[in-house]
Amino acid sequence: MSVRSKSANGGAIRSRLAKYLQGGEGSEVVAPAPPVPIRDIFRHFWPYAQPYRRYITLSVVLMAATPLLQGARLYMVKITVDEVLLKANLRPMLWIAPITIGLTLLVGALSFFNAYLSSWIGERFMANLRGHFFDHLQGLSLPFFQQRRLGDVLARLLGDTGVIGTFVISGVATALSAIFAIFVFGVGMFLIDWRLALIFSLTAPVFVTTVRMLSRLTKGAARERSRRGGAMMAYAEESFSNIALVQANNQQDRESAKFRTESMAALRAGVIVTRLRAIFSPTTDLVQAIAGLGIITVGTVGIKDGRLTLGVLLLFVAYTQQLYGPMRGLARLYQTTYAASAGAERVIEFLDEQPEVVDRPRAENLQKPHGAVEFDDVSFTYPGSAQPALRNITISLEPGQKVALVGHSGAGKSTLARLVLRFHDPSSGVVKIDGKDLRDLTVTSVRDSSALLLQDTLMFDGSVRENILYGNPSASEDELIEAARAADAHDFITRFSDGYDTGVGQRGSRLSGGQRQRVAIARAMIRSAPILILDEPTTGLDADSSHKVLHPLRRLMAGRTTLMISHNLMTVRDADVILLLEDGRIAETGSHDELIERNGLYAHFVRLQTESREDVSAAGTRVS
Ligand code: ADP
Repeated sequence: MSVRSKSANGGAIRSRLAKYLQGGEGSEVVAPAPPVPIRDIFRHFWPYAQPYRRYITLSVVLMAATPLLQGARLYMVKITVDEVLLKANLRPMLWIAPITIGLTLLVGALSFFNAYLSSWIGERFMANLRGHFFDHLQGLSLPFFQQRRLGDVLARLLGDTGVIGTFVISGVATALSAIFAIFVFGVGMFLIDWRLALIFSLTAPVFVTTVRMLSRLTKGAARERSRRGGAMMAYAEESFSNIALVQANNQQDRESAKFRTESMAALRAGVIVTRLRAIFSPTTDLVQAIAGLGIITVGTVGIKDGRLTLGVLLLFVAYTQQLYGPMRGLARLYQTTYAASAGAERVIEFLDEQPEVVDRPRAENLQKPHGAVEFDDVSFTYPGSAQPALRNITISLEPGQKVALVGHSGAGKSTLARLVLRFHDPSSGVVKIDGKDLRDLTVTSVRDSSALLLQDTLMFDGSVRENILYGNPSASEDELIEAARAADAHDFITRFSDGYDTGVGQRGSRLSGGQRQRVAIARAMIRSAPILILDEPTTGLDADSSHKVLHPLRRLMAGRTTLMISHNLMTVRDADVILLLEDGRIAETGSHDELIERNGLYAHFVRLQTESREDVSAAGTRVS
C-alpha cells in the first residue's frame, strides 16, 4: 500500500515537472534524443577510454590505497587520545608524531597525483571522443545535414561531449574513490564496534531512496536543458549566418524573442536541476544528525560499561565522518551521471547515424580513371520520400563527352549528378565509371575521379592559394599557377597586394562573384579529374562576369566527361547530348538541333527563354 502511494506521489511530481518544463512556448526546433539506458551509454563510450586503460588501472590502485592510508592516519588519532591524552603522557608522541605526519604527507601526495591523473585521463578521453565524433559527422550523408540544424550539430559536438568529458573526469574518479572509501571505512566501523556500525547502517536506505528519486527527476530536467541548449545554438547560427536578411527585414526582435524563449527554457530546466540537488543536502544533514546522536548515546553507554574507550568512540565518529563525504559524493554522482547521460543520449543519437554510402569489404580503388560514365536503368528514391527522384535512367557517356541536364526545378538533375559522386547509391540499377559498378569501388577513389563546380562557389576563409589547392593539396606551385592561368584567375590574383596569399574572407566575401567562380574553376582544374560536374556555375553571375567565366569553363571542360546542369540554354548548346528530365524521367534526348527540330518540350523552353530575353532587352531599350 505504502509503496503504491509512494510511486503515485513520484508520478505526480514527475508529471508536474514535465508540465513545468514545457511551460515555455518552445518550438520543437530540436527534437529530444531517444533515451538510452546507462549501461548502453557506458558500452558506447568505453572504447574512447580504452587507450588509457593502463593509466586508469593505476588510478584505481591509487584510489584504493588512499582510504587505507587515511584510515591508518585516523587510527593514530585514536592512539593519541588513548595513550597520550587520557594517560597525560607525552612520551608516545615521539613515534606518533612522525608517523602521523608521514601518513598525512602520503595521503596528500596520493590525492594530488590522483586528481592530476584522473583529469589527464578525462581530458584525453574527451579529445578522443570529440575527434572521433567530428570524423563520424564528416562522413555522414548530405541529407543528414539538410535535415538537421547546424547549430544543434555544433552544440552536440562541443557542448554535450564536454558534459560527458566532465563526468568522466570527476564522475568516475569520485565514484571509485567513494566506493573504496565506503568499503574501507565500513569494514573498519564493524571491526571497531558492530553495534555502533549497525546504527549507522540504518541511515543507508534513507540515503539510497532519496538519491534515486531525485536522480530520476534530475534526468528529465537535464535532458530538457541539453535540448534547449541545442536549440539556442541553432537559432544563433541561423540568425547570424543570415544576418543581412534579418537586418534588412528588421526581424532582429523576432530572432531575439526566439532565442530568449529557448534561453529561458534552458534556464528553467537548469534551475530545476539545481533545486533538486539542493534538496538533497538538508535531507541528508538531518539523517546524519540523527545517526550522530544515536551513536553518541550508544557509545556513551559503551564507555560506561567499559566496553569502549574514548579514543575508540572518537575513531568511530571520525570514520562515520569519512563515510558521509563519499556517500554524498556518490549520491551527487548519481545525479551527475543522469545529467551527463542526457548529453550522452544526444551524442549517441548522432554516433548511431550511419552514412548512406560506405565502402564494401574488398572495395576496389578506381585506378587511372578515363571518365566513361554509364547509368543502367537507374532509379532512386530519397530515404523517407514517397516519390522517386529518378526513374529508369539509362545513359552512356564516352570519356570526354558532354551532357547537358535540363528540365524544371525538381526534375532530378542534381540528384543524377550526386549519384555520379556517389553521395547516394541507386535504389535500383547500376551507375558505372569506366564500366565498373560504383558500389564495388571505394568512395574516395570515385570522388577523386570527379571535380565539382557549383552555383554557390564554396570557399574556406583562407588564402587564394589554400582555396585552389583544396582541390589537390599535393599540387606544385607550377601546377597551381597553371591552373589559375587556365581559369583566367592568375592576372587578378597577382594584382592583389598579397598575390596568392591574399585572404578571401568569410565564404570568399572579399572576391567578386566572377572572381570566386574563377578561383573555383582553378580548384576544379588542379584536380586533374576526368569527370566534371557543373551545377549551374554561371547562374547568379551578371552577364559580364558570366561571359568572363565561359572561356575558362570551356578550357576546364575540354577532355573531361562533363555533366552540366543548366537553366541557361545558351551554355547548353556546347553539349554533345542534351537530356531533358521531367519528373525524374528522361523526357527528351538529342543534340540541340535535333531537339529543336523535334519541336517538343525543349524547343518550347528555348522559345520561352528567347522571348523573355527579348522582353528584357526591349524593356532595357525603353528605359534607356
Ligand atoms: P533539380 O536539380 O532538377 O532541381 P533535384 O535533383 O534537386 O532536382 O530534386 C529531385 C527531387 O528530389 C525533387 O522532388 C526534390 O524535392 C527531391 N529531393 C531533392 N533532395 C532531396 C532530399 N535530400 N531528400 C528528399 N527529397 C529530395
